[in-house]
Amino acid sequence: MTKIGLIRCEKNEDRCPLTGCLTSLKGGVQGFAGYDAAEIAGIFTCRCPGDGLVEKAKILKSKGAEAIHFCTCAFAHKESNEWVMGEGFCDHLDGLMAQVASQAEIPCVKGSAHLPKAYQPETVAPG
Ligand code: SF4
Repeated sequence: MTKIGLIRCEKNEDRCPLTGCLTSLKGGVQGFAGYDAAEIAGIFTCRCPGDGLVEKAKILKSKGAEAIHFCTCAFAHKESNEWVMGEGFCDHLDGLMAQVASQAEIPCVKGSAHLPKAYQPETVAPG
């Protein structure tokens, strides 16, 4: 069982209640396919431009999170019922992930639900 922290962008917090993310996590599919079993440790919303995100990641870690996933809608968008890379809600996600991985010392995974075709979730290792 791997405990997962989830971070989503504030730009989507009033539109999506994380249904796809949580369903994918529970089912061990999409961004969570690499785990034998995954369980949610907690969820935070990132507020632009990411102030306090490292602290939030540390809190998730203190609640048992072994990895943090960043929601797919942060780096991809929907086009005619299909999710494609780019034009997500966050234009500096890679930098934030690198900062969180190194300063909170926890692996950060880019992706959660409905991954764009052929995209394999990238992981930023701590350190
Ligand atoms: S990745 Fe999908 S399900 Fe998860 S918060 Fe974004 S839009 Fe909602």
